[in-house]
Amino acid sequence: MRIVAIWFLSFFVAHSALADYSIEPLGDGLYRFVDDRHRAVFLVTDEGIVLVDTLNSRAAAWLKAELDKRFDVPVRYVIYSHNHSDHIYGAEAFDAPGVTFIAHRLAAQDIQITKTKTVAPDISFSDQLALDVGGQRILLRYHGPNDGRGSVSVEFKRQRTLFVVDWIVLNRMPWRKLWSYDIQGMINSTRDVLALDFDTFVGGHADIGTKAEIVHYLGYLEALYELVVSGIQAGKTLSEIQQQARLAPYAGLPHYDAWLADNIEGVYERLMEESGMGWRPDL
Ligand SMILES: [Zn+2]
Repeated sequence: MRIVAIWFLSFFVAHSALADYSIEPLGDGLYRFVDDRHRAVFLVTDEGIVLVDTLNSRAAAWLKAELDKRFDVPVRYVIYSHNHSDHIYGAEAFDAPGVTFIAHRLAAQDIQITKTKTVAPDISFSDQLALDVGGQRILLRYHGPNDGRGSVSVEFKRQRTLFVVDWIVLNRMPWRKLWSYDIQGMINSTRDVLALDFDTFVGGHADIGTKAEIVHYLGYLEALYELVVSGIQAGKTLSEIQQQARLAPYAGLPHYDAWLADNIEGVYERLMEESGMGWRPDL
């Protein structure tokens, strides 16, 4: 019994010491912070650090201690990518005099209305906000509804890097039934950001990539959407669409076999309800 107890103890110590966190330099003062499936980014400038997303209390506390240890400038700005708690909790770790919290107007409203337990934004904006810190420019843009409320893209000009959370996910299928996604909106917003001038994409989940990989991802979304629209048009049931579905160019995406039927169901539900195809007199 005693040996078992010691073994369990050593297992838990080793596990917590391993921490699931990492900080990866992306060049020119930009870094990616990884907590298991979630990613945040931060830019270190001479005038301070700009952090996008705090993730959760445990991750934020770990990150705050690391930033204090590694850099001799304080955090000046905390930006929320959108309203979802799994990306913006833990912000109180950075709440101090001289730190400004920024979110899109709709994310700020949602945080207030739903009593989200994070730091309320000091500044909000509607379409675009340019932040100049330490001689560097960061551009926040709203592209319309896509996922959650007030989800923005964050462009780091000098690094030619764009950060987007949840509505662009590279080298992975969109999450299961695409819960909370406005799928037409995701397609619109993704087309929108492809017109921006950047080289590197960093997502709030999954991989870092290029514009070519965003084009591939957008191609999947468009093909998925068209597949379900034309299935409904042809009078097929959901399970008929699921059984007959083949999106061969995307079969290599991780979770393709496991999640394609879920992705179809999510799109089907949105089309029937949100787009009202369920009560269209011609169908
Ligand atoms: Zn997410």
